Amino acid sequence: MLVSELAGVGKESVAKFGALGVVTAEDLLEYFPHRYEDLRFPTPASQLGAGADEENALGRIVWVKERRARHLAIVEAELEDASGTFIATWFGRSYLIGSLKKGMRLFVRGRVERRLAVSKLNVSYHKILAEDEEYRGEIQPVYPAGKELTTRKIRQVIQKNFSKLLALAADPLPKAISKRFEFADAREAYRAMHAPATIEEATRGRERFIFIEFLALALAAQIKRVSRAGQHAQALPIPADFLARFATQMPFALTGAQRKVIEEIWRDMAREAPMNRLLQGDVGSGKTLVAAAAMVLAAQNGVQSALMAPTEILAAQHAAKLAPLLLPFGMSVEAVFGSQGAKARAAAVGKLASGEASVAIGTHALLSEGVDFAGLGLVVIDEQHRFGVEQRARLRAKGVSPHTLHMTATPIPRTLAQSIYADLDISTIDELPPGRTPIETFALRAGRLGLAYDFVRKNVTAGYQAYIVAPAIDESEALTSVIAECERLRKSVFPDLRVGLLHGRMTPREKDAAMHQFTAGQIDVLIATTVVEVGVDVSNATVMLVLDAHRYGLAQLHQLRGRVGRGTAKSFCLLIAPDDAAQAERLRILTESTDGFVIAEEDLRLRGPGQFAGTQQAGMIDFKVADLVRDIEIYRRAKAIAERIVDEDPALSRAEHAGLRVLIDGAPSARAMLLSS
Ligand code: ADP
Ligand code: MG
Repeated sequence: MLVSELAGVGKESVAKFGALGVVTAEDLLEYFPHRYEDLRFPTPASQLGAGADEENALGRIVWVKERRARHLAIVEAELEDASGTFIATWFGRSYLIGSLKKGMRLFVRGRVERRLAVSKLNVSYHKILAEDEEYRGEIQPVYPAGKELTTRKIRQVIQKNFSKLLALAADPLPKAISKRFEFADAREAYRAMHAPATIEEATRGRERFIFIEFLALALAAQIKRVSRAGQHAQALPIPADFLARFATQMPFALTGAQRKVIEEIWRDMAREAPMNRLLQGDVGSGKTLVAAAAMVLAAQNGVQSALMAPTEILAAQHAAKLAPLLLPFGMSVEAVFGSQGAKARAAAVGKLASGEASVAIGTHALLSEGVDFAGLGLVVIDEQHRFGVEQRARLRAKGVSPHTLHMTATPIPRTLAQSIYADLDISTIDELPPGRTPIETFALRAGRLGLAYDFVRKNVTAGYQAYIVAPAIDESEALTSVIAECERLRKSVFPDLRVGLLHGRMTPREKDAAMHQFTAGQIDVLIATTVVEVGVDVSNATVMLVLDAHRYGLAQLHQLRGRVGRGTAKSFCLLIAPDDAAQAERLRILTESTDGFVIAEEDLRLRGPGQFAGTQQAGMIDFKVADLVRDIEIYRRAKAIAERIVDEDPALSRAEHAGLRVLIDGAPSARAMLLSS
């Protein structure tokens, strides 16, 4: 049924509902209030003004008048109840003056301002009561309104058509589950959402819908796990004492965390089911060595590995770091880049196809036709969230169900990782190699930018290099743009230094050139947008200066900070932000902690999962009512149930699971999960 078939929905409202994603009557039934206003209990006039929220009051009009303040018409009325009087005010609604009369009984709701003797209530909602009408307040749902569609209109349409809408309610849950969690049936749950008699009832109803959203995601994850477990990969057994043999060939002693994750990865690779594991570890935690360990086990078993990175710079860095680690095992690395000459490409491709080379490292170029492997058994994907689903799948398709290791330097808080990566196993490096000098971080007011620049100069004079991060070009007039700032630096701040520029509007070739110059030490100060964020490794850079730091999430700032402190020299991070207490408080966590997981948890707490770096992909957290952080307990319950259901009925083919199949098809997060790799 379309919304146009509902009472009170004309042609124009159809378009307005459409803008909110409400096309069918079912969509409207699922369009839930995001909060409720409790109109049940009026406060006596003498006690108004105690709360910070809106308050309700009931009174009889003593007088009513209209006055003007500048261009605004204000209607004011004095209302009286048994305990005293207060003033109700309506702004910009002079048409009301005709309908409000002395002696009328009125219900009003609004924020109260208490002024000496008299309270003033700024009316957001009012209702005229008949002389003998007994006041019966209700709980009013408040809907996320559209540009032209008010919450009031949405409420009216739902109420007018309520029984028609309720008749459409379908229950995806098997009876046994509803019973077990004591969920109301579908009709009752929808009623509780749209027309609750009590707040508790609304909360209970909401829990059911949260559970259902999570169940869809958890089912999809479990279906993927089970189907993968049924695929056949080549098992890569671990020879005796292999970790010890591997470790002796490394240039330094492995950290405990590296040992732990290598063992987790190897154990997966030794199985016949393909590995699908996420390796997360902060910048500098030593993921490269772990990737090398996986590749060495692959080569030991006679299969090849491929590592794909999002940019040429990163791929080149990986090749440069991995080649020496793999050399002692007689393994050779071939690079495959877009900008590579035809001859070099042909040589690399030849060695991969013949099996002469054991490892391929490259960018998307690896996906090109003609890049083939003699036997691809391991795929490593760096910064996995920067690749699309089909790109990852295409690389894997070059082997036969190869083992897959995803790597990310963006620590995801455990709570979030469990759900958005529900179909992946997760390994975490939670320890940095020893001997690092922590990066010293300072938050500075904008007025002290001069000092920060002096500090940059001091470090450059001492032979080091610096990054300065500025917002993208023409993003906002109010902010310093990267190009304007570069001009300024070259002209007046550092006229004697070599200042380079890097931003997203440059061509890949220009970007690479700028990065190469910086890496080679031909640039002293690189002013850049956040494109320097991921993986870039210049050990001579010791200062990271971030302008307008208030614009970035904590996790992102931590990522930026990770660009320095990669060599032996002490490094610094300077965060410039406007002078306000909230910013100072927020940035304090960065000045106090260098633990990416601690910072990520805090970022998540402050900004919610929607904003979290790396999670924006493919609708993974596209929920209507659920919140992965707030509702994590409900997620755990849903996950346990999903595992049991899929283990018993992998294709959800039983009659009582028909509703679940429909549920998964209609849930964006579940669909994204099924598609992901
Ligand atoms: P990531 O890729 O996780 O950001 P890298 O693999 O690039 O980190 O390692 C960061 C630096 O630490 C590299 O210079 C590497 O050689 C060094 N490193 C890695 N593991 C160890 C270790 N166990 N002991 C000492 N240094 C290490
Ligand atoms: Mg790395």
